[in-house]
Amino acid sequence: MRVLVSGGAGYIGSHTVIRLADAGHDVVVVDDFSNAKPTVVGRLEALTGRPVTVHSFDLTDVDKTEHLFSHEPIDAVIHFAGFKAVGESVTKPLDYYQNNLDSTFSLLRAMGRHDVRTLVFSSSATVYGAEPSLPMTEDLPTSATNPYGWTKVMIEQILTDVAASDDRWRIAALRYFNPVGAHASGDIGEDPSGIPNNLMPFVAQVAVGRREKLSVFGDDYDTPDGTGVRDYIHVDDLAAGHVAALDRISHADDPMSIWNLGTGQGVSVLQVIQAFERASGRPIPYEIAPRRPGDIAASYADPTKANTELGWRATKTIDDMCADTWRWQSKNPNGYPDA
Ligand code: UDP
Repeated sequence: MRVLVSGGAGYIGSHTVIRLADAGHDVVVVDDFSNAKPTVVGRLEALTGRPVTVHSFDLTDVDKTEHLFSHEPIDAVIHFAGFKAVGESVTKPLDYYQNNLDSTFSLLRAMGRHDVRTLVFSSSATVYGAEPSLPMTEDLPTSATNPYGWTKVMIEQILTDVAASDDRWRIAALRYFNPVGAHASGDIGEDPSGIPNNLMPFVAQVAVGRREKLSVFGDDYDTPDGTGVRDYIHVDDLAAGHVAALDRISHADDPMSIWNLGTGQGVSVLQVIQAFERASGRPIPYEIAPRRPGDIAASYADPTKANTELGWRATKTIDDMCADTWRWQSKNPNGYPDA
């Protein structure tokens, strides 16, 4: 297939581009580079051994989106593009709702006009809300604790309604748990701008000497060691899950499908620190800090539905995730170069 990947220059998008190319798909990327560096494109071409077509614009631009679909043959879309910083979404809710919803409307309308009705959407385990039962299954009710999370809940609802309106649609929403790690080459990885919000990139920057120490947000949760528990999933396993979902919806009859992409294993903050110390051979200094507002004690998937229906399974351990993150971080201590 010829697959349009929105946000294909970003962290998860770039790893998915490689997996799509490996599976024999042609890839077209649309990215506005508001949170990605153009230098990622050359690295993708080097790793895949083929040119990657890139369109550089913001999908909220309806005319440019229409122009793209008029000029590129496209069979399916994987939609990653969107704002994703939880804390920023609280201070800029209108930016988040407007950007994440408008880009999805623009894309869905262009897809409908051009009879492209196969879509994989980047959702999140954050849709399970503030007090989920564990492990999380796809049939739990959805809600959110911040505007970023609400954009995911709302877009899932919009997609469900669109799929119900016309049974030619084949839509999948993939609920990611905590994506970490990097491509095995160490040439593609996560490159957050500014101070990292997420645990793994922060730990990696401490290990490489860019930051002095980690703050562990709370050690009095009701978890085995008191620190927060998450289901970390290697980004390459996650990317493979997108290819499996695309393959499945292209051949199945259901207009709308939802799958968790996680390992099913909970790992604590202290366990991540220990694993990263093993992988890097460097100490990770840390201090215990207050809980971060909005955090839940524990989050982990029941991945059975994806395992059985997609024939997909996460294969990489937390040690693999830390080793690959460290290879990326040590080869690229300051992330991607500007040019
Ligand atoms: N965390 C932490 N220090 C940090 C960043 C995160 O202790 O600097 C903890 C956080 O409280 C949570 C876990 O690490 O228990 C994962 O946080 P992250 O932001 O990576 O993912 P999310 O909260 O979205 O699951």
